[in-house]
Amino acid sequence: MKAAVVRDNSDGYVDIKDVNLREINNGEALVDVEYCGLCHTDLHVASGDFGKVPGRIIGHEGVGRVSKVAEDVTNLKIGDRVSIAWFFKGCGHCEYCLTGRETLCRNVENAGFTMDGAMAEQVIVDADYAVKVPDNLDPIEATSLTCAGVTTYKALKVGNLRPGQWNEVVGAGGLGNLAVQFAHNVFNAHVAVVDGNDEKLKAAKENGADLLINRHDEDVAKTIQDKVGGVHSSVVTAVNKDAFTTAVNALRPDGKLVAVALPKGDMALNIDKTVLDGIQVAGSLVGTRQDLTETFQFGSEGKVKPIVQTCKLEDINDIIDDMKNNKIVGRMVIDFTK
Ligand SMILES: [Zn+2]
Ligand SMILES: [Zn+2]
Repeated sequence: MKAAVVRDNSDGYVDIKDVNLREINNGEALVDVEYCGLCHTDLHVASGDFGKVPGRIIGHEGVGRVSKVAEDVTNLKIGDRVSIAWFFKGCGHCEYCLTGRETLCRNVENAGFTMDGAMAEQVIVDADYAVKVPDNLDPIEATSLTCAGVTTYKALKVGNLRPGQWNEVVGAGGLGNLAVQFAHNVFNAHVAVVDGNDEKLKAAKENGADLLINRHDEDVAKTIQDKVGGVHSSVVTAVNKDAFTTAVNALRPDGKLVAVALPKGDMALNIDKTVLDGIQVAGSLVGTRQDLTETFQFGSEGKVKPIVQTCKLEDINDIIDDMKNNKIVGRMVIDFTK
């Protein structure tokens, strides 16, 4: 079968190779991939940024149909549509796995990094960890919900966002755009959006954002404090460490900053503000199987809609170039159905 694998020199691109998968073991299922989104995380894997993994099949935004199950598998059957996410599996028995925080498992496996992923015609999954995709959810959109969707939904949950509260979304790109939709359509919150690009702010407005701030034109924290008295929570998706400092200053007392983006370096956290205003700062990483199930549910109800377009596996290195040059709006999804 055809698969996109990390090159021996980890130069940031992939080779399309013919790969033979092993037989499935107990507890596993074979999935015929229909679609797989290409994510910036895949580019990091291909470049060896998290450690070199030559020969690894990339891909963690996969959706496909189960075509074979091991004899002992009871939760999946042939024909089921399932997803392949970055959180591929946890150990199943540590403190985190046992308490609904499985993405923090120290022995976690990641699709397309520590395990062969879904950028291939077929992928082997652990049946217990393959989250089902509802039939009434578009499978192409589902690929994006598997990664960006669940990440932003989880971040809003971590922020304890309640109906009627103000949430700030910093960065209105792929992640931020979905965060706006979840905050507005699922959490029934008011949304303030910060970005440096007016086009992206316009798109956020169309998705229900109430307050738009171009960070080049205004003092972001001051505007938010003046207009709404500070936000209850802020989800930072901008890959810029100054954005984190600004987001702290935009919080109201007892506000919570949720860090999602991963810029290099440290964030500044004013101790007075933190103590006197009871500020909280939390990190949030992808989501659990339950978070993903809920994300798919909201997608199937039409409450969140990622921007996606399909393309061919043969074009993957051109797409990688376009992603590096920031030329793509939304997500490019490789179509394995043709
Ligand atoms: Zn991803
Ligand atoms: Zn564990």
